[in-house]
Amino acid sequence: MKKLIIEVRVNEYAMRDGNPHVPWTAEELGRDAAAIREAGASIIHFHARGADGSPAHATADYAAAISAIRRASDLIVHPTLGQITVAGQDERIRHIVELSRDPALKPEIAAIDTGSANIDRFDAATRTFQTSNKVYINSHETLMLFCKRFAEIGVRPVISAWNGPFLRSGRALMDMGLIPEPAYALLVHCEGGLLGGHPATSSGLASFLSHMPHDERIEWTVCAKFGNLFPVAMQAIAEGGHVAIGIGDYDYPELGRPTNADLVREIVRMARLVGREIATPAEAREILRL
Ligand code: ZN
Repeated sequence: MKKLIIEVRVNEYAMRDGNPHVPWTAEELGRDAAAIREAGASIIHFHARGADGSPAHATADYAAAISAIRRASDLIVHPTLGQITVAGQDERIRHIVELSRDPALKPEIAAIDTGSANIDRFDAATRTFQTSNKVYINSHETLMLFCKRFAEIGVRPVISAWNGPFLRSGRALMDMGLIPEPAYALLVHCEGGLLGGHPATSSGLASFLSHMPHDERIEWTVCAKFGNLFPVAMQAIAEGGHVAIGIGDYDYPELGRPTNADLVREIVRMARLVGREIATPAEAREILRL
């Protein structure tokens, strides 16, 4: 079986009330990069954040973070597009385009969510929605534009899929030649009242995999927004997928507020149980043909 690519979703927009180890500043991201690399990670996914944890969208914020990460490690750099907190097609990828002009700052990959979803969170205890009108919109027009711009600047799009239909749109973009192969697809399982994607259960993963081509065109990885990824990660490791874990997605009270590096060490341990070796960043670049 191919070596396991461990990506770490270090911070997302998580605050520190659940887990105090969430890195925000460039300096903190650099320290986390060194620690997760040492533990066995090959890709770092991050959101630029202010010193108070607020979302930061300026290219300079991303540049500082990437410089710090690259000073500390040889990890594959995977910045966010910023989710829904910035508006407009061009605005959403402006930092990626601007960063790409400097080889020292150019990200190797960047995720596009290949579909739209309702993103209100449902509180099962009170049976109410915390919000009721939030929609994350990614039209095919926008996705095609992102892919074309990424091809021009040499950044590989990652297919971020919340459910089967997102994967079908991703396949269409691959068929159009807009996403190079093998594609790297992130299967985003949704927990914590987020209803727009499959749950982080074995049947949730099976739903994704039923939409996956049975060929070598896609390298897939799994994450769980607002939920414990370990049950799905075990299955992904056994079935030839990869793993994208992090305290950005979930604070893991089960493990007593671990660091990102702690989570990577747990995944490495699980991989050993089934005889799967861990990819270095150089090996991950080879597997993904970056
Ligand atoms: Zn993210």
